Amino acid sequence: MVDVGDHVVCPVCGGKARVVYVSRDGKRCIVKCLQRHIHGLRSIRGLCFLVDCSEVKRNERYLSKPTKLM
Ligand SMILES: [Zn+2]
Repeated sequence: MVDVGDHVVCPVCGGKARVVYVSRDGKRCIVKCLQRHIHGLRSIRGLCFLVDCSEVKRNERYLSKPTKLM
């Protein structure tokens, strides 16, 4: 389950991205990529994508407190 503000992997380029919105039913979210994307002839930073939450992976490297289930 992802939450607003989570660091995630961009579903398009695999770079750093953050969750900026999660739908009320928790199934879809908007991910804002922090990397540049080539869009037509321009490269744009900060593109947002509407994706299913199941497609989004947390970027574990940015979790400040790793949880151990042991
Ligand atoms: Zn990206």
